[in-house]
Amino acid sequence: KEDRSGKGAYRMFEPAMRSKLKQRREMELDLKAALDAEQFELYYQPFVDMAEKRVSGFEALLRWNHPEKGMISPADFIPLAEEAGLIERLGVWCLETACSEAASWPGSMTISVNLSAMQFKSATLLADIDRVLAKTKLAAERLQIEVTESLFLDESDRVLDILKEMRRRGLTVSMDDFGTGYSSLGYLSKFSFNKIKIDQSFVRDMGRAENIAIVRSVIGLSKSLKMQVIAEGIETGEQMRALLAEGCLEMQGYFFSTPQPKEELPRVIAEITKRWTGDLAVAAGAT
Ligand code: C2E
Ligand code: MG
Ligand code: MG
Ligand code: MG
Repeated sequence: KEDRSGKGAYRMFEPAMRSKLKQRREMELDLKAALDAEQFELYYQPFVDMAEKRVSGFEALLRWNHPEKGMISPADFIPLAEEAGLIERLGVWCLETACSEAASWPGSMTISVNLSAMQFKSATLLADIDRVLAKTKLAAERLQIEVTESLFLDESDRVLDILKEMRRRGLTVSMDDFGTGYSSLGYLSKFSFNKIKIDQSFVRDMGRAENIAIVRSVIGLSKSLKMQVIAEGIETGEQMRALLAEGCLEMQGYFFSTPQPKEELPRVIAEITKRWTGDLAVAAGAT
């Protein structure tokens, strides 16, 4: 055993780092087994269209029901799946499961699927999408893809071409968590997005003047670039009303519904529909 760093870093490696690494390796093995054991599940959270007064679609959010550790957040295991080389398989599983579920919904509802930047390195991403759409008979216009700004770390023609091809097929391409990452504004048009998701961190405290200013300029930007805009993380009626006042008409957040398993979606839709004669009507009436 040698100290490769040559700076004594090896000693710091023990024992805390070693057990962390061990834990991580165990989790990666668990992940591999989990795909086969069907421990993954998609939950769905509605997008609410305040202008049309309806649920316009759902975002698929991945859950890992670990036999011992219980529900694990995607924020924790997606990076692991990327490191373990499992993200491609897992991503295709999500795409296929989400699209086949959405195919049973009313034709006006969309399904939004998150893609990891690493999936754009897969040689078969577009072919996988084509195959899933053909197999599930879901219209391409009903599929939305969400990517984060980490995609810009790799400013290759390849990523650009894939995004263009997605658009050409009729998919909606959304910039998720907008304003929290690496993007320069030029990327928005260069990479041909057609939807911006305002990050929940800006929505959370709309009482702060700075956050209102950011939300307002993102909405303005989306209008100038002729892109759709949606805000995520709405938890209160006050936040909903503030966003409406700024002209953001599509929303998502616990205020409408937390992510739910597919069995619950008819109830989610019915409950939101009922609220159009109640608290939502009051707010929407003000627009
Ligand atoms: P995201 O795509 O930005 O999803 C929004 C996250 O905020 C979700 O967390 C959602 O449950 C949560 N959320 C929604 N409304 C509210 C709200 O009103 N208040 C608060 N505090 N949180 C809210 P989740 O499900 O834990 O997912 C975390 C992230 O993991 C996602 O962020 C996405 O980046 C990633 N992710 C989830 N599913 C997938 C997937 O299938 N594939 C990939 N590559 N990434 C995924
Ligand atoms: Mg998302
Ligand atoms: Mg987001
Ligand atoms: Mg996020």
